[in-house]
Amino acid sequence: MTFVFAPPAPVSLAVAGSTDRFPVRRVYCVGRNYAAHAREMGFDPSRDPPFFFAKPADALVPVSPGSIAEVPYPSATQDYQHEIELVVAIGRRGAGIDAARAQEHVWGYAVGLDMTRRDLQLALRDKGRPWELGKAFDASGPIGPLTPAAGVPGIERAGIWLNVNGETRQRSAISHLIWSVGETIAHLSTYFMLEPGDLIFTGTPEGVGKVVRGDVLTGGIDGLGEISVRIV
Ligand code: MN
Repeated sequence: MTFVFAPPAPVSLAVAGSTDRFPVRRVYCVGRNYAAHAREMGFDPSRDPPFFFAKPADALVPVSPGSIAEVPYPSATQDYQHEIELVVAIGRRGAGIDAARAQEHVWGYAVGLDMTRRDLQLALRDKGRPWELGKAFDASGPIGPLTPAAGVPGIERAGIWLNVNGETRQRSAISHLIWSVGETIAHLSTYFMLEPGDLIFTGTPEGVGKVVRGDVLTGGIDGLGEISVRIV
């Protein structure tokens, strides 16, 4: 068999402390999963079930620790914003997963940025239209290396932060998630068969804001290190 053109290389992430790479299948994202962020977006935080959207796997931008990755300012927006997030990597297949057993499906964790064309997202949201133009554009998912779950036993209580040009913009803790990692996996797996290689961006805390060309964003999570990107 021959392809009509060369298929793209598989998307993969570095693994901390290893030369092995983690092949990415799908990228799911949770909306409004921290109460203070739900409020800043104009919503009352609630225990309504979590909702999900997705990015294409090739929207990821793998970022090496200790380097500054270049991320292009996207077309068609005047309000390009940062969202620092804990990313969960799935390592075992499952549907209808019980929250109490969800950890068995977690391979590891990474620091990610759910970059957003906020003006487009809000216009689409207000018209009841899908969010792809606001969320699923090229290079919208900078992400650091994966750390195996066993290496970060305290991740559910870790601090999470983002600085822009050295000034703190976002600072919270994973313990403030409305829906925990286990609960998020339980909900998502009622709609999709989760497979090894799937990633879940778990939502951003408060403090989201606009960035422009030249800005340097540095974000981190305790136990997972930091990633840095420059908007070009
Ligand atoms: Mn987000």
